[in-house]
Amino acid sequence: MTGTLVLVATPIGNLGDLAPRAVATMQGSSLILCEDTRHSGKLLAHAGVSGVRLAVCNEHTEIERARDVLSLLDTGATVALITDAGTPGISDPGSRLVRAVIDAGHAISAVPGPAAFLMALVVSGFDTNRFVFEGFLPRSGRERTTRLAAIAAEQRTTVMYEAPHRIERTVADLADVCGSQRAVAIARELTKIYESVWRGSLDAAVAHIGSTAPRGEYVIVLDGAPPRGEISDDEIRAALHVALEGHSRKDAVATVVGQLEVPKRRVYDLALAVDRK
Ligand code: SAM
Repeated sequence: MTGTLVLVATPIGNLGDLAPRAVATMQGSSLILCEDTRHSGKLLAHAGVSGVRLAVCNEHTEIERARDVLSLLDTGATVALITDAGTPGISDPGSRLVRAVIDAGHAISAVPGPAAFLMALVVSGFDTNRFVFEGFLPRSGRERTTRLAAIAAEQRTTVMYEAPHRIERTVADLADVCGSQRAVAIARELTKIYESVWRGSLDAAVAHIGSTAPRGEYVIVLDGAPPRGEISDDEIRAALHVALEGHSRKDAVATVVGQLEVPKRRVYDLALAVDRK
């Protein structure tokens, strides 16, 4: 028999955003998968959903849980997947289970609803026609440097999630790679009592965040890079300066070539000169 896994979006702060169809779907399911039974138990009590079994499916148990879910789906059941907040699969568990369910030939559906990145994008004031969602940036090392370099060159609006204790550093890193005048919107506590959207240059954002004790949940929305004209040697040197930090010349050259789309030979010659200083 064919069963259905339904990804059900839940509020990102304001319980009033829980859709009637989300409630009906959860009530009509044989099993509700969630990241934390205590956290989701409160939501279900608020929504009046009762008598449905809850089981944990988080980033550590997602694969293991897939086996039980597939056996249940084989009986033709409907299983709902929710996370602590927002849309499952968006910087949250979900995508690996979805893959397993598709591979086993069962159906997937969703009850769409809140997602912090989408709300932040539409209130940012930046171009919403073409955008990139980066989720959480890698915390350190080459992965972070490479990702930051790609974001700096990206001409579409870029949306990122960040934890409060890392937001100051991430905004400062963005100012380093994108230039201090690139526009940014910092959306905080969306749909909650202290919802705010701060807009300004990256430079001003560094000062703004530094002047507060970051608390709550944040989304960073970065305006796209201006269309590329002729790239000057100074721009290449500035990109090399960032890329060379803690990396070999070879890696830094590769990063900058990818970032600025300029010939390798030109970047390599400038890297030799930067190194000699
Ligand atoms: N699945 C969620 C969604 O659909 O947005 C995202 C879950 S992810 C683990 C949590 C991150 O989402 C937070 O660190 C923050 O960056 C962002 N976020 C979630 N709720 C938010 C809110 N109310 N206001 C601002 N950002 C929020």
